[in-house]
Amino acid sequence: MIDWQTYGPKTRAIRAGQVRSHEGEHSELIVPTSSFVFDDAAQAAARFAHKEEGNIYSRFTNPTVRTFEERLAALEEGEQCIATSSGMAAILSTCLGVLKTGDHIVASQSIFGTTVNLFNTILGKFGVETTFVELTDINAWQAAIKSNTRLLFLETPSNPLTTIADIRQLADLAHENDCLLVVDNCFCTPVLQQPLKLGADLIVHSATKYLDGQGRCMGGAVVGPKSIVGTDIYAILRNAGPTMSPFNAWVFIKGLETLNIRMKAHCDNAMQFATWLTQQDAIEKVYYPGLTSHPQHQLAQQQQQGFGGIVAFDVKGGREAAWHVIDNTEFLSITANLGDTKTTITHPATTTHGRLTPEQRDAAGIKDGLVRISVGLEDVEDIQKDVQKGLASL
Ligand SMILES: *Cc1c(COP(=O)(O)O)cnc(C)c1O
Repeated sequence: MIDWQTYGPKTRAIRAGQVRSHEGEHSELIVPTSSFVFDDAAQAAARFAHKEEGNIYSRFTNPTVRTFEERLAALEEGEQCIATSSGMAAILSTCLGVLKTGDHIVASQSIFGTTVNLFNTILGKFGVETTFVELTDINAWQAAIKSNTRLLFLETPSNPLTTIADIRQLADLAHENDCLLVVDNCFCTPVLQQPLKLGADLIVHSATKYLDGQGRCMGGAVVGPKSIVGTDIYAILRNAGPTMSPFNAWVFIKGLETLNIRMKAHCDNAMQFATWLTQQDAIEKVYYPGLTSHPQHQLAQQQQQGFGGIVAFDVKGGREAAWHVIDNTEFLSITANLGDTKTTITHPATTTHGRLTPEQRDAAGIKDGLVRISVGLEDVEDIQKDVQKGLASL
């Protein structure tokens, strides 16, 4: 077995986890099978009794899915990865794996809307309570921790305002209180940020976003120590079944091979686009961690290896002006998805954050004129031209 940690991250992204079959194929095989056959009855018994390692059924393990898991674990420098059917399935599996009735979560208030719903509505129904706090307010995190708190949960940079949390500081706080720190590393991917190295215990991913990178497949993953991921979280996969399909795993394997160059290209385009935005009169404020005006620019510089592909801005004139800009673009995709080679444009206040009350949106800093762009890999001049069409006609 090759020890991939002795190799660089680009090599790991392309090579780790592949096991060639007797056919000698150069690329990774898709193994679309629900079950696996045994040499004899004794081998079947040994596999079921965990006395022999090997495949039994694709809800538990599948060779293509395993290649994806090993490759992502190698990139995050985690001991083990478990792939899931979506990003939400990764978050649910993590919670079901490590929490029980009566436990408590402290979460950033600036997390993916569906994650908020999952915590409040679904976990709440099973007696797991969540307190939401301001991402950058360490005192609020500390004050929210109770004797039954088990998880701290965050995303950094946040969506859509790209606020940055100090992962090291929150990991220390979690450990002083016998809690686990879970980081949703969707926006940065391991190319730009490795939360485990900064002290986080578990990483969750929506592979649907940058890991695929071309908006084709749904998937997710959990990465962390074998003692948690390989036991409690794997048990959820095996018994509850939020399994990734082999075909999707194959697409994500392909995605990981180009993740390094794609993320750097997303960062370059986003930096150029954000800088251009700051020069437009119709725009009040630009949110991008790469700008020196960003309140956590320095922290982003220390913690990340790049500033990411998400840029947000406030258009003067509120909702009407923001919609006008969106509707007057020619080729940008009006969709709430992100992390695609295709640039997407979103109005958070009426879509991803539409279910919040105006007061809650206000508290979260999401104004009616806010537009979020997931900067893709088209010519950045064309992206600017397209946004300019909307701005010019205001
Ligand atoms: C999309 C997203 C998720 C959920 O992932 P799905 O693959 O859509 O289930 C979770 N967290 C973040 C930050 C996301 O952007």
